[in-house]
Amino acid sequence: MRVEERFLKYISFDSKSDTCSKSCPSTPGQLEFAKYLKKELEEVGLTDVTLDENGYLMAKLPSNVIREVVTIGFISHMDTAPDMYGKVDNPKIVRAYDGGDIVLDEGGEYILSPVDFPELLNYKGMDIVTTDGTTLLGADDKAGLAEIVTAMEHLLSNPEIEHGEIMIGFTPDEEIGRGANLFDVNKFGAKYAYTMDGGEVGELEYENFNAAGVKINIAGRNVHPGSAKGKMINALSIAMEIDSMLPKTSRPEYTDKYEGFYHLVELKGEPESAYMEYIVRDHDKVKFEDKKIEIKRVVEHINSRYGQERVKLEVEDQYYNMREKIEPVMEVVEVAKRSMDELGIEAKVKPIRGGTDGARLSYMGLPCPNIFTGGHNFHGRFEYIPIQSMEKAVEVIVRICENYAKL
Ligand SMILES: [Zn+2]
Repeated sequence: MRVEERFLKYISFDSKSDTCSKSCPSTPGQLEFAKYLKKELEEVGLTDVTLDENGYLMAKLPSNVIREVVTIGFISHMDTAPDMYGKVDNPKIVRAYDGGDIVLDEGGEYILSPVDFPELLNYKGMDIVTTDGTTLLGADDKAGLAEIVTAMEHLLSNPEIEHGEIMIGFTPDEEIGRGANLFDVNKFGAKYAYTMDGGEVGELEYENFNAAGVKINIAGRNVHPGSAKGKMINALSIAMEIDSMLPKTSRPEYTDKYEGFYHLVELKGEPESAYMEYIVRDHDKVKFEDKKIEIKRVVEHINSRYGQERVKLEVEDQYYNMREKIEPVMEVVEVAKRSMDELGIEAKVKPIRGGTDGARLSYMGLPCPNIFTGGHNFHGRFEYIPIQSMEKAVEVIVRICENYAKL
């Protein structure tokens, strides 16, 4: 089966995750999809195919050489982002893309145009899969799944390609930040793994943000505004004051590359009480700690001014930069880079301005950089993926397996 057919089949499943759900997987659709994938992995000829009660699917491609080769793994997530409906009934396939506008829906309201998305022009002549404008595409991360399965099938039908033991792991609920939660690293048993969950061809990532969540509760003192002089303490004014004391240029809309930020994600309340939530991000551990200290200082300042604890602060670390765990085992990056080189793909190494399941897994003992799937514009109706990019990803997976057997 070609990667294209496989991908088109996978996106016909509704496997959207749901932040509000407490179960794992968060939605029954993911489990349905996992059951389908389990059957497919068995049919393809992988061994030890297991689907646990939390919706984690694992399988093994046994080694075909006698010598000792490190066990590596490939990981993708089965859910799609909750942002938009994710079952794709009418994908569009634009064959030999001519570089013009692609009209997604019948009404002509949604146009995927190189004017808005200039990188489309890199795919002139290629075959591009898009949505019909009513859903997201789900290339994130069903392209990753399709690429891994197709690569495994390729290795099974070409036994002359030598490889060690290869593990594959498909997780639920990555999009709601829970993909690594119940991942059994011991059972997986790989020394290194790669998440196939990146964007354009060549992407290779092993750095991500350090991340913390900040919750701020503010207690005001409401008094009738007509007689409030010297008495009212408006919680909303305190909230605005807190925000104004944080460096304005350290916001997502003013930062790029290795610059971290404070991002106000929630602000609500009335004069009597208010609530704010920030996310704090920085690649650099020291700067990350400094950012958290800065928020504490602001809150202490406000509290000292009122002479009591009007503002309550909770800071919780969410995940850390995987670089710390990858650097001691740089061969995991070097093999991926070399594999791309050999295939004529320019490796684009850049820091992720976000987190990945691989970051969490790296801290759970499984160093896990991230590799491209080929898709663009994830999480929305303009998501698209060139079929030739998926084919490149399949080649990269196969080559990585091959190269570990040569180490
Ligand atoms: Zn993803």
